[in-house]
Amino acid sequence: MREKLWHTMEIEDLSTALGTDPERGLSSAEVERRLQEFGPNALKEPPPRSLFSMVLEQLKEVLVLILIVAAVISGVLGEWADSLVILLIVVLNTILGVYQERKAEQALQALKRMTRPTAKVVRGGVVGEVELESLVPGDVVLLDAGDSVPADIRLTAAVSLRMNESSLTGESVPVEKDVGVLPEEEVPLGDRKNMAYMGTTVTAGHGCGIVVVTGMNTQIGRIAQLIQEAPQEVTPLQRRLAELGKVLGIGAGVLVLVVFLAGVRQGMDVLGMFMIAISLAVAAVPEGLPAVVTVVLALGVTRMSRRRAVVRRLSAVETLGTVTVICSDKTGTLTKNEMTVVHLYTEGRMLRVTGAGYRPVGDFVDEQETAVDPAADKNLRLLLLGGLLASDACLENGENGYRIIGDPTEGALVVAAAKAGIVREEAEREHPRLAEIPFDSDRKMMTTFNKIEDGVWSFTKGAPDVVLERCTGILQEGEFRPLDEVSKRRLLSVNSELASRGERVLALAARLWPDVPANPTSENAERDLIFLGYFAMQDPPRPEVRKAVDVCKRAGIRTVMITGDHLETAVAIARALGIWQEGNGALSGDRLQKMDDRQLEREVNRITVYARVSPEDKLRIVAALKAHNHIVAMTGDGVNDAPALKRADIGVSMGITGTEVAKEASDMVLLDDNFATIVNAVREGRTIYSNIRKSIQYLLSCNIGEIVAIFTAVLLGQGSPLTAIQILWLNLVTDSLPALALGVEPPENGVMEQPPRDPQEGVLSGGVGWNILWQGTMIGLISLAVYLLALSQGRTLEEAHTMTFATMALVQLVHSFNIRSFRDSLFTIGIGTNRYHLSAFAISLSLQGVVLFIPFLRGFFDTVMLRPGDWLTVLGFSLIPLLVVETTKAFGRLKQGRLQTG
Ligand code: ATP
Repeated sequence: MREKLWHTMEIEDLSTALGTDPERGLSSAEVERRLQEFGPNALKEPPPRSLFSMVLEQLKEVLVLILIVAAVISGVLGEWADSLVILLIVVLNTILGVYQERKAEQALQALKRMTRPTAKVVRGGVVGEVELESLVPGDVVLLDAGDSVPADIRLTAAVSLRMNESSLTGESVPVEKDVGVLPEEEVPLGDRKNMAYMGTTVTAGHGCGIVVVTGMNTQIGRIAQLIQEAPQEVTPLQRRLAELGKVLGIGAGVLVLVVFLAGVRQGMDVLGMFMIAISLAVAAVPEGLPAVVTVVLALGVTRMSRRRAVVRRLSAVETLGTVTVICSDKTGTLTKNEMTVVHLYTEGRMLRVTGAGYRPVGDFVDEQETAVDPAADKNLRLLLLGGLLASDACLENGENGYRIIGDPTEGALVVAAAKAGIVREEAEREHPRLAEIPFDSDRKMMTTFNKIEDGVWSFTKGAPDVVLERCTGILQEGEFRPLDEVSKRRLLSVNSELASRGERVLALAARLWPDVPANPTSENAERDLIFLGYFAMQDPPRPEVRKAVDVCKRAGIRTVMITGDHLETAVAIARALGIWQEGNGALSGDRLQKMDDRQLEREVNRITVYARVSPEDKLRIVAALKAHNHIVAMTGDGVNDAPALKRADIGVSMGITGTEVAKEASDMVLLDDNFATIVNAVREGRTIYSNIRKSIQYLLSCNIGEIVAIFTAVLLGQGSPLTAIQILWLNLVTDSLPALALGVEPPENGVMEQPPRDPQEGVLSGGVGWNILWQGTMIGLISLAVYLLALSQGRTLEEAHTMTFATMALVQLVHSFNIRSFRDSLFTIGIGTNRYHLSAFAISLSLQGVVLFIPFLRGFFDTVMLRPGDWLTVLGFSLIPLLVVETTKAFGRLKQGRLQTG
């Protein structure tokens, strides 16, 4: 079948051509067969990088090239041992580099799989959700607002269906879709109204269609072939480190030159000095740092996904640690989204609905505590029936008890009706739905048209203020009466009373029609309505949220509730959760819309509850907060939330209730839709950043240690305290593992007791730069002292080198324990609390032991057997950093304590 003809075909011809049933879809056996024939419905991704190309990538590093040149020169001059060792170091370094990259890549791949999108299909007459990849031509697919279209589809049903096709046509205004056959063969893509194309999104309404082509045969598949691979993202931290690397590189160049010239002037052997200079250059540049940062970020992302927060961009991890405001939706994120109707209001009576959860058992009792029989009370029955008919949710009695499929707000109405014995199948059989105007959160209401007896009734349900505005009558004592302004006001005050108890109120209104209006729209059909009553429902707060809000407060993060719900409902719940307190502001959408941006900016720091907001308001709130330099995390689930999610520093979407569009626009997806998960992610973000700073502090202080020792010794005319090979070994082998392990330190005590980090602050600020300097100098001077001591005792140069080599390695390994906490004593956090660090310590220690103790290797590393007394000296000097740093930390804590109590 030629692709361009799909839109010209009648549905029957199309179904025959594709061998499918537009009602029941394909059988599972047929799907299997077609999967074999057409392959998975996926856009081809560039093949993963091969091991060989990864190795090559490593070898292209400038420093590695220098090392290879050094190895060749040594070889040519007959220094075989040196040459071999340098090559061994290059090999070890390459293995470590490739391993790290692999690890990072695998972590990111695993994440991609976690957020794999699904599609709703009808197969064998049953509706189900399947992975996008398993779609085949002929599959019958359902589309709802917020969905991303899973393949190229010919539409067979469309209710107010609108698509954003900008990914394909560049046109950002949504296109209205319908199912009419288009007789013209040559119709531009954007005008094929009966087709939906892969990668475009449903902005409103819902529909159904048959998949015509999948994977690379789709329109987007053809374009994808042309699109170049997206460049790898570089996070701000990685960029800053690259800059730091350049500065250090230049500094290293100068230093190396000075050392080389000083050495040669003192009459040292030129080749030896040349090798030392090269090794020193390798020592000065923290070449392992970018890899460590990538791995730590990637591992952090994996850890976060285990705690139900899937980060979609690496840089989001860094930003998370700087968040100062979290703007959260109420329903489902702060509350459980398990709605139950607890009150009904009709005909001036307030009825209480008893029962618990979704079990359809309960009574309707009036204010005198007398049970009202819904079968005998016509108004109550109509209210419940209308609520059910205007909803799509289903109540299911499964293995784990009753559950709701669909929107929980509607679920509550369905359960309330079921308590009166009104169930969907029966109700819909008697009163089939003839048309509808779907819900959208801007309008805050929806309408269905149902056949009732000989006529057609429309039921409009939605936010009370919105629905009441459209009402002109009220049903009372079985009659329609006009609704005057006084009664309207009274009804609104009933709404306020229910809302101030934290109940979510929905109004139901109806209208009688002689026939279904030809083209029902909100303007022509949601007006002149008759008010039937209210449903008031409770949605219990999630139990863990209150604590999470407190954690945020202590961490200097403000929590703001943003909801489509009524102001009073929102404030009541925000108060219960500690988000709203006396003195805080609360603003509703209509007032917000009257404010200009300036006014909003003035108020924004005071307001903690925004109610009745539309998705556009969310965008303005983000902008106003950002004008105060806040770093904003904003949640969203609907299709219209996408712009606000993109605008926020961290857009957070909902894994369970969120639409594909929201997920795609977000930086992070909450697998459990839970506010507490955002707070946990912020904690992780802060920890990861602090751990990266630990790795940096460790690597750079070790590097400075080596430079100080060599530089001072050469300037003092004492020659180099370490041989070139020894410097390379320390730098490229023994340092790397502890640096990586520091990157996975568990969170420090009090990470969430500090104010958020300033995103402008450099990686070396907050004392890290200073620590690197003095701790590096200390490491250098300790090693130098051992060298000079050995020389002064008349020991051979080999012995002095070996002692310095052993000391330097051990000092650095001991120092890695110091860095595990910036503030707390090692003995408070516990020596064994980071088992990766213990393993790294053990491995590096063993590697060092191997080159010091195995006679065969000693030849290569110019080491000699030390005497027991020498070992005591080495050990004694190596423990100095522990003593010194523990003491400075103790002073730091004392000072901080005094500041806090003072
Ligand atoms: P949040 O923004 O906290 O997630 P929300 O669910 O209240 O809260 P929306 O879904 O935008 O936000 O709903 C806005 C309002 O529209 C609700 O307060 C309610 O009055 C009304 N509403 C919600 N769902 C429906 C529905 N299925 N049918 C009719 N009206 C609804």
